[in-house]
Amino acid sequence: MTLLSIKHISKQYDKDNHALTNFSLNIKKGSVWSLVGESGSGKSTLLRIVAGLEVQDKGEVYFNGEKILNPTQKLVPGYQEIQLIHQDHHLFPHSTVAENIMRPLLLFDKDYKKERLEYLLDLLDLESHRHKLPRELSGGQQQKVAIGRALSLEPEILLLDEPFSSLDTIQKRILIGELKTIFRKLKVTVLLVTHDIDDAMTMTDQLCIIRKGRIIQKGQSKKIHQNPKNYYVAKLLSELNPLPDRSDSYIRPSEVIFDATAHALSGKVREVQYLVAHNQLKVLVNSSSLEWTVEDRKRKFKKGDRIDLSWDQEKVLYLTGIPMPLTL
Ligand code: ADP
Ligand code: MG
Repeated sequence: MTLLSIKHISKQYDKDNHALTNFSLNIKKGSVWSLVGESGSGKSTLLRIVAGLEVQDKGEVYFNGEKILNPTQKLVPGYQEIQLIHQDHHLFPHSTVAENIMRPLLLFDKDYKKERLEYLLDLLDLESHRHKLPRELSGGQQQKVAIGRALSLEPEILLLDEPFSSLDTIQKRILIGELKTIFRKLKVTVLLVTHDIDDAMTMTDQLCIIRKGRIIQKGQSKKIHQNPKNYYVAKLLSELNPLPDRSDSYIRPSEVIFDATAHALSGKVREVQYLVAHNQLKVLVNSSSLEWTVEDRKRKFKKGDRIDLSWDQEKVLYLTGIPMPLTL
């Protein structure tokens, strides 16, 4: 069942700046979507429009079949059922964790407040921090308090704007793991915005790739990876090695195999970089001026080694679009 239906949304802040153009996305109840795009691609604008906090030029958003009213149409902008959590989560610095979480419940019944607080502290594993101030918490814990505060109102939709951008790698990994469990447990519907494709894919397999306010591709991450719509999407997911004499054909580093019998190209290792899962090699391809990036998972090759490069023909990506560097 579609819970959130975003239909043909366009938004222009000024003459030359199209923040969003004809953006449409249907989100099923209980699903988690990641919206991925470079900075300035319109992600935050979209979340604000979905939350009823920004006026769009064209299009509508429907929640449970009801039209979301924007600030010109509604006296008090926003909806209790749709909670937006900002990147810099705006916690009250002089209020404790418990006070921050309960803040939106000011006018609620005392027993309900208490019950809801205990439930959320337990859910978010924040019981032992309940009396602490935000500055006494890690970045990941602060983000959880902000999520707890949004969840206090029992929303049906959570909109998360770059929730991991201020966290270090370890905190981020922990938080993503915890959030996945929490969202599954609550069956809440989530639209998460990030500029980081790895974070997006760790969080969920439903991706929507946005560029300059337009959707480039949406759907399951596996399908997008196997069948990227164009060069831009493919490059967002990994490095791409161009095949010699073919302007539209590429092979991903992870698909290159070092097979002497069936080799299609040979080259010389120019650089070896030790990475966590493999050594990343830069290889000068003999027959051309191309440099390829390949993954040496057995950490076998050294700088200067000759190397045979081959690949499965089925793994070749045929891509349209201009090869341009990404500026995430
Ligand atoms: P993202 O969240 O993907 O970085 P934003 O939605 O914040 O993108 O911004 C999209 C575009 O709209 C950018 O070019 C940005 O400069 C512009 N923009 C965003 N908010 C405003 C605003 N309040 N006034 C004018 N321009 C804005
Ligand atoms: Mg933003």
